[in-house]
Amino acid sequence: SAPNSAALELQGVSKAFGGIQAVDSVSLRVEPGCITGLIGPNGSGKTTLFNLIDGTVPTRSGRISVGGRRLDRDGRPGRAHAGLARTYQLPRLFPSLTVLENLVLAEPALSPRRLVLRRVTEAERTRAMTVLEDLGLAEFADTSPGELSYGQRKLVELAQVIWLEPVVVLLDEPAAGISPALSQRLAETVLTLRGRGVGILLVEHNLPFLASLCERVYVMSNGAVIAEGTVAEVSAERSVVDAYLGD
Ligand code: ADP
Repeated sequence: SAPNSAALELQGVSKAFGGIQAVDSVSLRVEPGCITGLIGPNGSGKTTLFNLIDGTVPTRSGRISVGGRRLDRDGRPGRAHAGLARTYQLPRLFPSLTVLENLVLAEPALSPRRLVLRRVTEAERTRAMTVLEDLGLAEFADTSPGELSYGQRKLVELAQVIWLEPVVVLLDEPAAGISPALSQRLAETVLTLRGRGVGILLVEHNLPFLASLCERVYVMSNGAVIAEGTVAEVSAERSVVDAYLGD
């Protein structure tokens, strides 16, 4: 990617559903090797923004760039290949594949119909085992993800992300509903990604968890960014407190 370019940059990105302005001219930057938080009350537009960034929801307004390369006219597979990766609140894994095959064969951005069923090569297996070992998942390599706990499946999604060697990762509430031990491992993995220069955009309702990981956060309300800064700074802003108390 070009020098000085953001891992992810949005300029004036908008989306309306009928009369609802779900995302209202959002501009933000995620720098390489930085964890950037995204918070806001329910219905403030966070999920729609993720869907706009990865191409699940199309938009004609604004610009989206990954590593300095404009992507908003590309489909989901094109964006994934340019280095955009994502996890979901509910992990999306293929139950008919093993955990290891879910890394190597299942590109998360592609639909099940695009899944190519083939043998995993020895080189792929070796590399995938390294990723799984780092996450404490090696013993589950040949198991179906259906046999794992919810928290373990969330870690498998992160393993998929690491496998892809992305430029930027969108994480949707990675720590929600998982045990403290797994949540710790997850936080360590996110820090490892950061250490490799990956930009991370993190939606997280647990503010202490967020504050422990994030340099900066953006706050959304009614589709728009209403504040940005450190968690401590934005928590002190009147507009942010009002947004959370409800209008
Ligand atoms: P958040 O993730 O912050 O809870 P969402 O992005 O889910 O917010 O929702 C933002 C707004 O857009 C809400 O008012 C929601 O009802 C609306 N919305 C989201 N998706 C759709 C859709 N597919 N059709 C109509 N309205 C939608």
